[in-house]
Amino acid sequence: MSESDDKKLGMDRQITRRDFLNGVAVGTGGAVASSALSSLSLEGLASPGVAQDQPGYYPPALTGLRGSHPGSFEAAHSIRDGKAPANGTKALDTRETYDLVIVGGGISGLAAAHFWRAKNPSARILILDNHDDFGGHAKRNEFSVGGRMLLANGGTWAIESPFPYSKVARGLMDELGIQPAALEAKCYRKDVYKHLSSGVFFDKQTFGADRLVSPAPGGRGSGKGTPEQWKAFLEKAPLSPQARQDILRLENETTDYFPGLTSDQKKDKLSRISYKDYLLKVVQIHKHAIPCYQTRTHGLFGVGIDAVPALDCWVLGQPGFQGLNLEPGSHPRMGYTPRGFASPKEAYEFHYPDGNATIARMLVRKMIPGAAPGHDAEQIVTVKFDYSQLDQPESVVRIRLSSMVVEVKHAGEPGQSKQVDVTYVRDEQLRSVHGKNVILACWNMMIPYLCPDLPEKQKEALHYGVKVPLVYTSVGIRHWQAFRELGVHSIACPGMYHYEMNLDLAVDVGGYESPKTPDQPILVRMERTPCLPGLPERDQHRAGRGDLLSTSFATFERNIRDQFARVLSGGGFDPARDIAAITVNRWPHGYAYEYNYLFDPEWPVGESPCEIARKRFWRIAIANSDAGAAAYTDSAMDQAWRAVEELHSA
Ligand SMILES: Cc1cc2nc3c(=O)[nH]c(=O)nc-3n(C[C@H](O)[C@H](O)[C@H](O)COP(=O)(O)OP(=O)(O)OC[C@H]3O[C@@H](n4cnc5c(N)ncnc54)[C@H](O)[C@@H]3O)c2cc1C
Repeated sequence: MSESDDKKLGMDRQITRRDFLNGVAVGTGGAVASSALSSLSLEGLASPGVAQDQPGYYPPALTGLRGSHPGSFEAAHSIRDGKAPANGTKALDTRETYDLVIVGGGISGLAAAHFWRAKNPSARILILDNHDDFGGHAKRNEFSVGGRMLLANGGTWAIESPFPYSKVARGLMDELGIQPAALEAKCYRKDVYKHLSSGVFFDKQTFGADRLVSPAPGGRGSGKGTPEQWKAFLEKAPLSPQARQDILRLENETTDYFPGLTSDQKKDKLSRISYKDYLLKVVQIHKHAIPCYQTRTHGLFGVGIDAVPALDCWVLGQPGFQGLNLEPGSHPRMGYTPRGFASPKEAYEFHYPDGNATIARMLVRKMIPGAAPGHDAEQIVTVKFDYSQLDQPESVVRIRLSSMVVEVKHAGEPGQSKQVDVTYVRDEQLRSVHGKNVILACWNMMIPYLCPDLPEKQKEALHYGVKVPLVYTSVGIRHWQAFRELGVHSIACPGMYHYEMNLDLAVDVGGYESPKTPDQPILVRMERTPCLPGLPERDQHRAGRGDLLSTSFATFERNIRDQFARVLSGGGFDPARDIAAITVNRWPHGYAYEYNYLFDPEWPVGESPCEIARKRFWRIAIANSDAGAAAYTDSAMDQAWRAVEELHSA
């Protein structure tokens, strides 16, 4: 692309963004880097290396490359590569001793601290996390566009789970005062986009022409819609006549492709074939129709339909199964998420404007009341936290950020030991603290490096799952007239860099007012899940992770601006003029890996990798959603509870 293209897209424009390289602002002397930053207030100036107790430290307001931000992971990659994590410096003993040290300040680590305190309110607890903010995946993005506060989830989108929340997880939510169903009824503003529909953007590289087609029948990806709606939609789509004809048949026909088999036998058959192969070989649609469906599974699984069983796609409402007459209900060879969705449950869902960051914030405020005013689960949404209160010596619970733990070792013989020594890197200095107990609420694949003394079988099991890489991008735009002009609020972009872009859900909670009219600034949410179709799922995740870690913010920004220009220019959108802020929440280690029976064996109960991996090792217990092989908030809570119970009953 030429420079003039860059100019047209607005690559030279001042927006709120920051670029960091290895924890240092790009430019000289670590100072604020580019003219683009001059519009930032001091409030936005938190960075790795800036102490969390400095005035103005407020990471939710940072824009640019967030999620696993530069400065948060390099020490871990050093120990993975067999190198000394902090220039070989000797650990400084802080002489701090705690009843419990928790590695990882995500929902699981925070919940573990809460559960521990419920048993022993005076226990002294330290939580260490490598990021510059707490919450783990449940992070908050806070923008100010045109004087308006706009909030987004940097990771965890909502309180939702395929299975009902357990008694423990629901009990914790009750204690925090979070009632999802009541909040949903009270806070969702469903009428804001009532005149807009869903659409699909067909891109030139994949489909031969750039074209936005709407409305998508029955909403995107639902497999519903009348034959007339499908005909009208397909007539406008840049697809070959054969592809159109096959999509029409797929979406509407009622053929039983497996006559003579029982529902269970059909389900078993569908569990052994990918949805892509099912479409190509069983339903026999033309290969040119496949790109319309390829990314439909990205949001839940981080891979396309080549790596997701057809059975799981049936549960998710994808087309092609209408004539099979499958009985509702789950099957043992379904993955965790589809198995849950296949079983009926009551509604227990709510999306806070900052996603489940609100749960993390509620937990932190409960344990460290000085960090934020108030007490209820609505007013907290607009509250600013005082990060200087998180790690105060007089507090019984302390949260220490930008602290990557690199070693967790019993002092002396593990079976006899009364103490665990925990070493971490902060400000490029190795430091150690001591705990009577330790909970590792961090990622499974990191644990063998922290605790090389673990049994080999356990270390192997800890390495098994490969977390799903994904990106949640939030783009602040000055108004959304283009969406109104085009009549869409949500657009699937199956061939583009981000596979979807949606106007943010309208939710009013506490004092937070979501934008209501197209002249107001708003956030557009985009998702990207890099992968390598054709490979087994875990290999696709490894490839996607490599992609994410090697992509600069400038590349993200250029692709984002290009996508806005191509998808919305028909509505008068000008990316140079209309984009005000960009945050790319990059999660190379995202969702916990859930087993996929196209590639994973059916382990007997007690022998799956996550069950072997989470075994207590004397004074060290293991929490985190990886320990449940389930990528959900309630799983993170349940695993925290189990880890606390294991240490207490030891
Ligand atoms: C983009 C995204 C969207 C999601 N959406 C939803 C959703 O809508 N609903 C839902 O229920 N679930 C969702 N999930 C899953 C959910 O977020 C997780 O299951 C849950 O938050 C995990 O919490 P956790 O504490 O177990 O792990 P994490 O949130 O990953 O927290 C672990 C923390 O430990 C830190 N850590 C790791 N190693 C070390 C170390 N050596 N030293 C110090 N710290 C370390 C990590 O950096 C991290 O901050 C989503 C996940 C992602 C990534």
